[in-house]
Amino acid sequence: MTGFANDLLRGKRVLITGGGTGLGKSMGERFLSLGAELVICGRRTEVLAQTAAEFRDTFGADVQTFRCDVRSSDDVEAMLDGIWQRAPLDVLVNNAAGNFIAQTHRLSARAIDSVLGICLHGTAYCTTGVGRRWIAQGRPGTVLSILTLSALQGGAFTVPSAMAKAGIDAMTKSLAVEWGPKGIRLVAVAPGSFPTEGAGARLNVSTEKSTADAGAALQRHGEHVELANLCAFLISDLASYITGETVVIDGGRRYLGGARAGVAEMLSWSDEDWERRRAQMPSRSNARST
Ligand code: NAP
Repeated sequence: MTGFANDLLRGKRVLITGGGTGLGKSMGERFLSLGAELVICGRRTEVLAQTAAEFRDTFGADVQTFRCDVRSSDDVEAMLDGIWQRAPLDVLVNNAAGNFIAQTHRLSARAIDSVLGICLHGTAYCTTGVGRRWIAQGRPGTVLSILTLSALQGGAFTVPSAMAKAGIDAMTKSLAVEWGPKGIRLVAVAPGSFPTEGAGARLNVSTEKSTADAGAALQRHGEHVELANLCAFLISDLASYITGETVVIDGGRRYLGGARAGVAEMLSWSDEDWERRRAQMPSRSNARST
């Protein structure tokens, strides 16, 4: 993988929550390849250990791992103390999340609390915990949060997640202002469809096996490295004047979904289909007069 100087992230110590699997793991891999120092956390120690071992084999990297349930502010504080004992962070990536499809009127309070607890409260605990330390030490820093398109346009059947991620979007914009004078940037990305085992199992979306995606204007799912490259840029010094911004990376899904009915089918029309359709159209002069 080329494109960036391979020392783009040298000297940056990055924590990725939920960094043992899926997109978090792919981001970690890319950040390491660009010279970052990595810390990952999650609830399953064996998953974290496996990922850290893979990274050690590939990059010779000493990746710090922490078992941490981000729903618990005590867990988060203990983890941050542990991280700072070795060295302060430069970047926090809020990636840990939980989500599943359900009819919203059938959700129990426990189910709602679980999703909000991970995404919204977990992100708030991590962000304020890291921000508090940066501000106390007069250090600059960057917080990158992984949202989802539903944060921006709603998400039927994944409503608690949409609510939580919309809250993180608000946090990003708010703290960009509050913490900007202290040299702390907050940015976010809103991915479309990037197949992972976790998303496949919980959201009934297609797996890594198929790359086609009729729901995206580009007609395919995103590749992990495409998201990881955007995130590498946003946490790097190349993006030093970007803050408060949420960047959508969805292959045009947002605009296709927002288009009138039938647009998705039209994308698969052949040239002959278009020719037939054109023949049925009113003449140009008629079209102009209506
Ligand atoms: P994933 O592999 O299931 O990643 C979720 C990670 O979060 C796991 O490593 C999980 O580890 C961790 N996690 C869950 N609950 C946690 C908790 N209470 N405390 C600490 N860690 C916790 O799914 P993914 O698809 O890569 O998703 C990563 C991020 O991308 C999420 O924010 C998701 O909303 C976002 N996203 C994904 C897509 C997509 O198409 N894949 C699209 C839009 C947005 P443990 O279970 O071990 O804790």
